[in-house]
Amino acid sequence: MEKTVIIGGGIGGLYTAYYLVKYGYSPRNITVIAAEWPPYSKHRLAEVLGEKLSIDYTYIGIYNPLIDKGINVIQDIANKIDVAEKKVLLKEGSEITYDNLVIATGGKPFIPPIRGTDLDNVMTFYDIRDLKKLMRIRGSPRIAVIGAGLVGLTVASALKRIGASVTVYELMKNILPGVIDKPLSSKLKNYLVRRGLRIHTSTRVEEIIGDRRVRRVKASSRIDPVDIVVFATGVRPNTSIIKNTGIETVRGAIRINRNGMTNVKNIYATGDCAFSHDLITHKEVYRPLGFIAAHYTKIIARNITGTREETRGIVPTIYENIGGAHVIRVGLSLKEAETLGLAPTIRCEKTIDQISCTVLEDGTPIGYEAIGFSERIRNKAWQVYYDILNRFF
Ligand SMILES: Cc1cc2nc3c(=O)[nH]c(=O)nc-3n(C[C@H](O)[C@H](O)[C@H](O)COP(=O)(O)OP(=O)(O)OC[C@H]3O[C@@H](n4cnc5c(N)ncnc54)[C@H](O)[C@@H]3O)c2cc1C
Repeated sequence: MEKTVIIGGGIGGLYTAYYLVKYGYSPRNITVIAAEWPPYSKHRLAEVLGEKLSIDYTYIGIYNPLIDKGINVIQDIANKIDVAEKKVLLKEGSEITYDNLVIATGGKPFIPPIRGTDLDNVMTFYDIRDLKKLMRIRGSPRIAVIGAGLVGLTVASALKRIGASVTVYELMKNILPGVIDKPLSSKLKNYLVRRGLRIHTSTRVEEIIGDRRVRRVKASSRIDPVDIVVFATGVRPNTSIIKNTGIETVRGAIRINRNGMTNVKNIYATGDCAFSHDLITHKEVYRPLGFIAAHYTKIIARNITGTREETRGIVPTIYENIGGAHVIRVGLSLKEAETLGLAPTIRCEKTIDQISCTVLEDGTPIGYEAIGFSERIRNKAWQVYYDILNRFF
């Protein structure tokens, strides 16, 4: 029987293996090459930090049953793909041949090119090693979190919760830029500031200052003393492995078709290393989100096991608890819709415990976003989600 090799043991890699087995592929013919093992969910990292939970809570539960079923896991780094010979070369020196290859190498954290990022105690919040470092914090260190996106705000809130003195710096005018729009982000900012986070928007961090270790952050018109700096300034596709393979990329991310396949036959890609398809606009978009990685794993597994299946596209959904505030978005934000070439409008409403906005195109909802203080905010969001699915699917 043919062999499938998967590079990467995160959500994209692991769920591809899971669906392959589910759709009848022999586990013994699946090999996962994983730089990190056991596999874990990044969206649980901040929760583990803030609630002082065990690291075990981050592990993706399906990995043990997959091992029991007989999939092969090689804990190593894949260094090179030889497309002509259909083989992957590993760092340790061995090589493994494939009939189908799935690239699920994820992303890599982006750090802006400024001075001082190489000092001690300057880090990212991206993987389990970062979590372990922050779990060692004792007392109330002064921590600068650079970036007020989802990752920045969730780690900032978690750090505050464990006693750190946290300042967030954001280049854009609003927090959660690109995730939610201004009416909501202003509310959320006020709420988080009342809860004790310092947040400086429209503030560009220009330099990290220190001797061997970090001492200060220089940002726009201010210099603040600091003990630790955490960069949460975005993700870029991790695609160095495809060098010289002829696999096509768009702005650094692997281009896949609606079957999850790259332009090279029998080589697939999913997750933060790849582009995805937007259901509403039919455009190719780079959205490094776990559920998108998972979405394509099913499609890829179907195609490898012989059922031709295509994605119709994705309706993005984001749900996060940030310092006690529930934040949800389904579909497009106003900003993203504009970026994708639409001419949207936004309609917002406020009730006692939530504020929500609907994004419309020609009077039709294409997005919904809300912040509130109970999980009830999910109800309306799911309703809009299914409306969008029904309309555009
Ligand atoms: C702090 C944080 C919170 C997040 N919260 C959410 C959330 O709430 N909701 C959401 O939808 N998304 C969230 N995300 C994004 C989500 O985690 C990613 O979209 C998802 O992990 C992507 O899955 P992936 O399999 O593509 O990549 P990853 O999960 O990054 O897995 C890739 C794996 O491949 C390994 N690898 C890379 N290169 C090689 C190689 N050459 N050889 C072998 N192994 C290799 C890497 O070490 C890694 O283990 C969050 C991300 C972060 C950082």
